[in-house]
Amino acid sequence: MNDTSIGTVFLENVLGNVKNACELANIPVEIYEFLKRPKRIIIVSIPLRARDGSLKNFIGYRVQHSDALGPYKGGIRYYPTVDLDEVTALAMLMTYKCAALSLPFGGAKGGVACDPRKLSLEDLERITRRYTYMISSVIGPYVDIPAPDVYTDARVMAWIMDTYSQLVGRQVPEVVTGKPVYLGGCEGREEATGYGTFITVREACKLLGIPLKGARVAIQGFGNVGRHAALHLSSFGAKVVAVSDSKGAIYRKEGLNVEKLIEHKKATGEVRGFQDSTPIDGDELLGLEVDVLIPAALEGVINKEVAERVRAKIVAEGANGPTTIEGNKVLQEKGVFIVPDILANAGGVTTSYLEWIQNLQREHWPREKVLSTLEEKMVKAFNDAVETHRRIEAGMRDAVMVLAVSRVALAIQTLGIWP
Ligand code: NAD
Repeated sequence: MNDTSIGTVFLENVLGNVKNACELANIPVEIYEFLKRPKRIIIVSIPLRARDGSLKNFIGYRVQHSDALGPYKGGIRYYPTVDLDEVTALAMLMTYKCAALSLPFGGAKGGVACDPRKLSLEDLERITRRYTYMISSVIGPYVDIPAPDVYTDARVMAWIMDTYSQLVGRQVPEVVTGKPVYLGGCEGREEATGYGTFITVREACKLLGIPLKGARVAIQGFGNVGRHAALHLSSFGAKVVAVSDSKGAIYRKEGLNVEKLIEHKKATGEVRGFQDSTPIDGDELLGLEVDVLIPAALEGVINKEVAERVRAKIVAEGANGPTTIEGNKVLQEKGVFIVPDILANAGGVTTSYLEWIQNLQREHWPREKVLSTLEEKMVKAFNDAVETHRRIEAGMRDAVMVLAVSRVALAIQTLGIWP
């Protein structure tokens, strides 16, 4: 393992949070030791004959952390820097995310170290199908159900479904979620994570007595999560005053017109240059005086130094692992209300669950039914977390972790060890 990778630091952060939760919940050390290691790790080699005739070899991972509460569930990420520690950390987060939302799933994650932006569609399909073939014996609708993550999408999920279906000789849409709607995908899946983030922000505002109408919001990242969170927040009267993407950030005191900004980003490929907005530094966005800050882009951005500059009352983590342990400590000392990642961005996996049950029953729900069921589950999880936060007198990150780890630990203790 590479000691200095972002993945290694991320894994240490996740393990630190789990250990802390075990101590707070009086969970025996032996259970922490059990949870520290995934149940199964698969590393596969993915050879690809390039167009110029040369042979390339990609590395792929599937980490199955825990199936104590149900079949493994988790996305597949295609990214050049994907490594085992990062995939392991993400698999662990999935276990606790599903537990926090009371979903009947365990946690897993997959990844292929490649850069889809530099691959032809044809090569991407071949990599996906070979990767699926290599992990096909350990996935399945009641075993492990993959989903999209960074740089994988509905088309990649369709290839996974088709490869698995060809191998077993029948159509198995329920082997993967996040498919195109016309191939068994779920209405509303695309907006689900950002919508879920919006629900948790709405509930947090309610709890803290901050009117949502007029609440000032800054969002780092204007991709799937950031864009949809922004849309729902602005449609309920919140003022999205700043957003950023990988190319830069913009600010408008009176609030940005989110719908028009989406069109602008689609047309130009960036948020900069949007009408009536002022360009600002991406880093400056994190320290703006706002009611709500939503990091919805990268891991580890709110470190100690950034946390010291944060002036938001609420930080809702749209991204996975955006706050380091040191950053979290500073935010907590400053009294910032944190909606941690495993709660704030759980809308995606919750909708994946809804897709899975629709597929198993060969049903198709309308968007309204999907979003109202999602809302119900997000609100319940938020209230469960707040109840734990008050009971154990700890911050929300610890509270959600205590809630989730306790559920997994109880299952492990009840099931015992066999054989
Ligand atoms: P995405 O690729 O659609 O969007 C990412 C956005 O971040 C893009 O707008 C990109 O330009 C921006 N970005 C990249 N580097 C940046 C930087 N330095 N500063 C500011 N912005 C930057 O990805 P996504 O699906 O929205 O995922 C974002 C995060 O949310 C990831 O951590 C992902 O794991 C997490 N997440 C996503 C989902 C989902 O359903 N999409 C579910 C759960 C968690």
